[in-house]
Amino acid sequence: MVLIIAGIIVLFIIGVFFIPRRCDVCGIGFKRKYYTWEIEGKKQHLCPNCNSRMSRRVSSKKFTDRFG
Ligand SMILES: [Zn+2]
Repeated sequence: MVLIIAGIIVLFIIGVFFIPRRCDVCGIGFKRKYYTWEIEGKKQHLCPNCNSRMSRRVSSKKFTDRFG
């Protein structure tokens, strides 16, 4: 019984450490939703705001690659 409780506490602590809580770009805290991006080979967690900015940037980059 004690082991189970200890296990739950450990899982909880691990969860708190590994769940991204802040946007890697602007540093804002996530409320619920976040987006994972791979930027320069590194996993980044973005808020919806930065996600839309980023997708615009990526699409414009693709556009330049193709037509620029
Ligand atoms: Zn952000």
